[in-house]
Amino acid sequence: MNCQESARLLPGYFDSELDLVHTLEVEDHLRTCAACTNALEADRALRSTISRSNLRYSAPSAVVRNVRATVADVFPRETSARRWTWEWSFAAATLVLFALVTWKLLPVNNAPTSVTLADEAIADHIRALMPGHLSDVESTDQHTVKPWFDGKLDFAPPVENFAEQGFPLISGRLDYLGNHPAAALVYQRRKHFISVFLVPATGEPDRAESRETQRGYNAISWTHGGMNYWAVSDVNPGDLEELAKLLRGEH
Ligand SMILES: [Zn+2]
Repeated sequence: MNCQESARLLPGYFDSELDLVHTLEVEDHLRTCAACTNALEADRALRSTISRSNLRYSAPSAVVRNVRATVADVFPRETSARRWTWEWSFAAATLVLFALVTWKLLPVNNAPTSVTLADEAIADHIRALMPGHLSDVESTDQHTVKPWFDGKLDFAPPVENFAEQGFPLISGRLDYLGNHPAAALVYQRRKHFISVFLVPATGEPDRAESRETQRGYNAISWTHGGMNYWAVSDVNPGDLEELAKLLRGEH
């Protein structure tokens, strides 16, 4: 990412409105770029100054609705990426000129849509591999992991340990996939980790596996028994398919 791309994404990053993949790309760039880091810090300083002053004012919901409706009327056919830019400019101008609205008045609802669920699953897996992120509950026993999810999700993910078949269950954690709360199970294969994401697919028919490879990671997805599955790892696709079979009960 260069500074031009970073400048385009920084407003969304500033408002925590980027998806995970773009967030990580921006953070990568910020680590090595003092200019963009300074720009971000300036925005943060402005926001905290405004929120501490008596200029802060939360617009009534009727005003928010009217502004949104007007935006939709005036720019009905803009692509999401262009509207994204435009809405940000509009929000910034409003804030500076009138100091009436909070930053929350025009949240960006249309994040760039080019990022697929495979991108997201792979990014989540990579992030989980960072120290301290791999698990919320650590256990090699599904009787500990399964109840841990109770009350944290509105579905009960099937949790099984396949240690005997060479895929010991290491841990579980909560994650997000496609804006959905997901259960993430971590299995080990030799020295490698496999993240398995589960999201309910209520009413959807079973779907055979589809595969993707990105940045050296393999991702396969399938639907089985009313649940969407994503398995992501740097293990070879054959290993992933073997685990997929186990998860579908084909053993
Ligand atoms: Zn930069």
